[in-house]
Amino acid sequence: MSGPCIILDKSAFQSLKKSESFILHKYFFVNVPPVLVLEIIGDLKKLSLKKDPHKMVSEYAGKLLLSNGFVNTHFTQLLTSSLKGEPVFMDGRPLIGMGRSSYVEGQGKGVVIDCSPELEAVNRWKDGNFLKSEEILAERWRNITQGINLEYLRQKLRAKALRIPRVEIPEELIEMVDDFLSNISNPIGELYWLFLELGVAPNTIERASLRWQNCGYTNLVSFAPYAHHCVRVSLFFYMGLFHNCPFTGTRATNKIDLEYLYYLPFCNVFASGDNFHVRICRVFLRKDQSFVGRDDLKRDLAAIDSLWVKFTPNQKAYIWPPEREGSIVLDLWKKHVAPVRSDDQNLAFLMSKEKQEEILSRLKLIKATAQQNASSQYDFSPIHEPEFIQISQKMNPKDPCPCGSGLPAGQCHLKNIK
Ligand SMILES: [Zn+2]
Repeated sequence: MSGPCIILDKSAFQSLKKSESFILHKYFFVNVPPVLVLEIIGDLKKLSLKKDPHKMVSEYAGKLLLSNGFVNTHFTQLLTSSLKGEPVFMDGRPLIGMGRSSYVEGQGKGVVIDCSPELEAVNRWKDGNFLKSEEILAERWRNITQGINLEYLRQKLRAKALRIPRVEIPEELIEMVDDFLSNISNPIGELYWLFLELGVAPNTIERASLRWQNCGYTNLVSFAPYAHHCVRVSLFFYMGLFHNCPFTGTRATNKIDLEYLYYLPFCNVFASGDNFHVRICRVFLRKDQSFVGRDDLKRDLAAIDSLWVKFTPNQKAYIWPPEREGSIVLDLWKKHVAPVRSDDQNLAFLMSKEKQEEILSRLKLIKATAQQNASSQYDFSPIHEPEFIQISQKMNPKDPCPCGSGLPAGQCHLKNIK
């Protein structure tokens, strides 16, 4: 894992050439929200495409490089955890679940996380291999997205009579959302409909509402910080819709774009070319987070890409992005990554074969031991400061090798690994 953690919306991701995507994964840790995976597979059933949709989806999947990227846990699952009082860390790191906490003799306490099913699927799509169930999923996704009727929702909201004066800028609207939230006595109970809409199970909402009443909480942010984030995003959208705000609006795709905003706490940088995001996301980003426009990011990645081919292996192994006047990538590093030694390098690619094998066998031992004495499911509570985290990733041999040789990994560092 290296570099600031970045989330891209589909338009930003789609705009990158494969070599630019390689540079992206070299200098950023790419957090993939499940909505992006769904948007990609949804294109299987997109009728307006000139190209063969299967080829198109394979191409998109080919740009997701799993050597420095993950699929974040679905926001509904995290929202549910948050309502149950479990910690959901919101400090710019990706949240990946389904790990097994374990103790490994001599290595300490830690978590072993297997390759997620989404990543396995993305790997398959790269080979043009789609399951029947994924075709059905794509069909369903298209039907759902085409069935979004925000005009209907607007009318339904009017019936809820959330009355606020018309506002012109996002900052005004978010202020009203915050006012509204601080003036209701039991936000869980009163926003029952909203939590249902966000996919939370009725009994989870009911229990959270009881806990709120019994424990004498006065604000949602201290009761369940992540639930507070989701509610703010969601209410912002619905209140904006209700009042015909110029920056929200009834375009059906806004509802999908909204979903990216639920994942904002799990990145340092958000990149998008979507007008809806460009207009509103600043009110949800903390000061220690950044927004970058799709075109600006692409331009800088392309510039680095053109330098890359002339780099020596030592330059390629150097962790920091190249020093260049006005480089957005470098600026984001300066803002989000603690300064490191100037000679800091990714030693993995300069390491001797013996050393590589020694580390590999240690990792294998941890994995095998963890599998034996694993506590079955990932438990958010016991390990706040694990001594190790091991994350299993699967690479497609067609992916460009992370060493930057320009060769597919299958012909480079993965050549002798089965
Ligand atoms: Zn290599």
